[in-house]
Amino acid sequence: MAKADASHGPNTRLGHGGNDPMEYYGFVNPPVVRASTVLFPDARTLIAEDQKYNYGTHGTPTTDALCEAISGLEGAAGTVLVPSGLAAISVPMLTFLSAGDHVLITDSVYGPTRRFANEVLPRMGVSVEYFDPLLAADIARHLRPETRVVFLETPGSNTFDMQDIPAIAAVCRPKGIVTVVDNTWATPLYYRPLEQGVDIVIHAATKYLGGHSDVLMGTVSTNAQLWPKLYRGHMVLGMCVGSDDAYLILRGLRGLGRRLAVHQESTLAVARWLEGRDEVKRVYYPALESDPGHAIWKRDFSGAASLFSFSLRDGVDAHRLLDALSVFGLGYSYGGYESLAAKVNLADRTLKRADAEDALIRLHIGLEDVEDLIADLERALISAGGGGS
Ligand SMILES: *Cc1c(COP(=O)(O)O)cnc(C)c1O
Repeated sequence: MAKADASHGPNTRLGHGGNDPMEYYGFVNPPVVRASTVLFPDARTLIAEDQKYNYGTHGTPTTDALCEAISGLEGAAGTVLVPSGLAAISVPMLTFLSAGDHVLITDSVYGPTRRFANEVLPRMGVSVEYFDPLLAADIARHLRPETRVVFLETPGSNTFDMQDIPAIAAVCRPKGIVTVVDNTWATPLYYRPLEQGVDIVIHAATKYLGGHSDVLMGTVSTNAQLWPKLYRGHMVLGMCVGSDDAYLILRGLRGLGRRLAVHQESTLAVARWLEGRDEVKRVYYPALESDPGHAIWKRDFSGAASLFSFSLRDGVDAHRLLDALSVFGLGYSYGGYESLAAKVNLADRTLKRADAEDALIRLHIGLEDVEDLIADLERALISAGGGGS
C-alpha cells in the first residue's frame, strides 16, 4: 500500500500519513507500544546498539508514526516529540543557544515563552531581546554578531499580528541565524514556514492536532541541515513522550482538515457578527478584510484558525460578559471541539504600541452549531451593558 505524499491533498495525507497498516497485519491504526526496555538478540547487537529501537526514551513505533506524519505535513527532514507545547519552545532554545549568544523574540509571543526566556536564558548567559512583530526586514537593525536564534510566532498571541516571515528569514538565513516559528495557530495545514526559508517549526500539538482537550504534547520539526543537532539536543535533555499520548495526537490528526474547515467557517461568521455590534470596539483576526495583517495572511496562509480576540467599548463590562456565557466555557486553551472564552492581558509586553489595548476578550470557536454560539454571545453582550445594536 503506497503512502500519501506531496502529490495528494491535505486530507488524504492526514488520513494516510505516519504508520503503514501492512506492517501490522493490516490493522488501520498503529499499536500503542508502551516501552522502556528493548531486548537485543545477542551480545554483538547489544554492544553496538545495532537495531532500530534500543530504549524507550529514543522512540517507539507509535511515536515514530506521529513524527513521520508531522514531518510529512511540514515538509521537514525530521520531527521530535516533547511533553508539551512549552517544551517544544524550550528544547530548540536549549539546543541552539549557548553562553554569550543573543536571542531575538517577537514581542507578541505566547506568554510562557517569555517567562522561559526571561527566567532561564539569562542564567545560561544568553541575552534576550524582544522586537516589534511588524518589523519585517528591518529586523536586520537588531541583529548582533552574537545573535544565534530569532524566535517568531505568527499570528502573535492575543493580538494576532501577522509577521512577514519570508522577509525575516531572508535576512537571517545568509547569516546562519536559526529561525524558529511557533506555528500552533495555523497548523501545517494552513501555513508551512519551512517552505518560506524558516529553519525550525514547532507546535503545541495540545491544541488543534490533538483537538479534543485531553492530551498535552509538543512537536519540533526541522530541515536536513539542523536535524542531527536537534535530534541530539532532544535526546540528551530526556524530553520524551508516552506512546499513549502520541496515539491520541495521531488519532486527532486524522480529522484535522475537516475540523479546521468547520472551525474556520464558524469563526469567520462569529468575527463578522461581532464587528457589527455596538458593544465591540475592534476585532483582531487576520482573516477579516479590516485587519491590518490581512494582506500578509492572504499571501502566506491558506486558511485561518478559530482563535481571535476583540476589545469592548467603554461601559461594557468584560467580567459580566464572561459570566453570562453558557455555551462557551471559560478557559485559556484552544483547538478542542468545544468553544472557550478568556480575558487576556497585554501588560507583559515589552514594547508599547500606539494602538495597544490593556485587555481583550479571546474566543476559541469550537465545532458547535454557530447559531448557538452567536446567540450565547448576543445574550452575554446585552447583559454586559451594551444594550444591543
Ligand atoms: C498553548 C500554546 C503553547 C504551549 O502549549 P502547551 O502544550 O499548553 O504547553 C505554545 N505556543 C502557543 C502559540 C500556544 O498557544
